[in-house]
Amino acid sequence: MKTLSALNKDWIFWLDRLGAYTLPVGVLASVFLHTTDTIHITYSLIFFGVASLCIALAQHICLYKLVKCPKCGWNLAKFKSGKKIPPKLVYNAFKAGRACLECGWKPGQDKE
Ligand SMILES: [Zn+2]
Repeated sequence: MKTLSALNKDWIFWLDRLGAYTLPVGVLASVFLHTTDTIHITYSLIFFGVASLCIALAQHICLYKLVKCPKCGWNLAKFKSGKKIPPKLVYNAFKAGRACLECGWKPGQDKE
């Protein structure tokens, strides 16, 4: 995540991973808790469902609001047309350290 590292926003990607794993892990945990009679499965499933939704939502908002070019302020998660770039493409672009669409800034350029 060259771009996110350069902006100290690697946590957005971890938030994305966390959101993706919360539900499957939560389902397994719910089944486990249910078999040990700790919590009724309905409650824990609702809890993990809501938690995963909140994380996904927070990640989405951060990704499209906070990742901006340090040079010109361009939103790096958007196309030139202003449309949001799909998350998968955005993360691929961040991984590759794609240049800013507006001014051509690249991660690591500041240090040179
Ligand atoms: Zn820029």
